[in-house]
Amino acid sequence: MRALRSHLGQFFCVFLVIFWAPGVLRMWAAASKNPTATAKITPPKVAQSKTVPSQTEKTKAAPEAKAAPKGNCVAKLMAALFPSLKSNFAAGIKYLTLDEIAQLLQMKAFPEAKKNQATLTKGQAVVRFAAGDNFVTYQKSKIFLAQKIVFSGGKLHISCDDYSQVLVPLLAPHLVREKKPSLRTIVIDPGHGGKDSGAVNAGLGLSEKMLVLQIAKLFQAELVKRGYRATLTRDDDTFIELKNRPAKAKNADFFISLHCNSAANHLAHGVEVFTLPRARKFPGNACDPWNLIAVYSFLSASTAATGFENRGLKTAEFAVLKSLSVPGVLIEMGFLSNLEEARKLADPLFQKKIVQGLVNGIEKYAANLIKFEPPRGSRFSLRKKITPKIEPEKHAANLDQFKSPKGSQLVKFSEK
Ligand SMILES: [Zn+2]
Repeated sequence: MRALRSHLGQFFCVFLVIFWAPGVLRMWAAASKNPTATAKITPPKVAQSKTVPSQTEKTKAAPEAKAAPKGNCVAKLMAALFPSLKSNFAAGIKYLTLDEIAQLLQMKAFPEAKKNQATLTKGQAVVRFAAGDNFVTYQKSKIFLAQKIVFSGGKLHISCDDYSQVLVPLLAPHLVREKKPSLRTIVIDPGHGGKDSGAVNAGLGLSEKMLVLQIAKLFQAELVKRGYRATLTRDDDTFIELKNRPAKAKNADFFISLHCNSAANHLAHGVEVFTLPRARKFPGNACDPWNLIAVYSFLSASTAATGFENRGLKTAEFAVLKSLSVPGVLIEMGFLSNLEEARKLADPLFQKKIVQGLVNGIEKYAANLIKFEPPRGSRFSLRKKITPKIEPEKHAANLDQFKSPKGSQLVKFSEK
């Protein structure tokens, strides 16, 4: 028996040397090459920046979160020792549990039939979370996150950044600290123009550059009727460099770029609204909380008015969004490559519905901005009604407490 134990012990040592030592050495070598690696929080990688909104569905649909965090030696070591944990938490990123989020936002958390899915609710607001997803579903819209939702220790976890940059603006907007923008002057950007036709449906003789110009002019007229100032980046079939379009919104309050989509798969259909990936280093990121509210407002209003499918809120480093100094979105109003949608996009009667969706998007965005007012004491009964009762100071204190190192072992390791 003792001999057997001794054999097992020897076998175990040999196993260690053969399988683990090279990996540990490689990690040690990598860490010594890059001694600052453990201190860095590496932002998620995003697809190459695009200068022209691409016409293929494949590149369009790329969400922002294919993050492969790197650089944390301890976390790598943990992942090597316990491969089953490898894909869970991203190194160097802090997480909150769903229960903590429910407490912070004064919402109710309901686990679903599958243990790794849950819903948060408060009044009309419903947010769904599922482990492994890189999005939450708010009302009926998918909203992409920077980090995947993690299920660990029987609990769902969401990164602190996604909490602050997605859930807070949507669910407790008065907690956003940035100065609220005004909304009076709107710049409408009909995409493409001149030598750049954009998407084309040759069978129906339609081009994106002409359709978006028609819709932009109708949209402009409707906004003016409602008391807004509205200007176009082009009002005829001329070509304007992408980088010159956001510059036209320098003294405005909002920018919206109108496009029609196209895909190799002619069955693809529906509406997509884009904003910049959050927390990147472009001037346009200064408006991240407002961009999120705007993108949600336009997607829900446009799909409601047209009956087109809701393909979700998306993010892409589009040139027209990167250098904006005001909040802005890019909307793909429907697919020109889909016969049924192309006919509707070109139908003057249906264009009225599309424009109604855009106008409702502006109005919804304006209504949401009001919610960003901080609470001002109880004598404003109306204000009291529309603002949640979460006090900013208490929220900040609770958030600090939840962010302090505790929770699962792996979160601790990855925070080192
Ligand atoms: Zn386009």
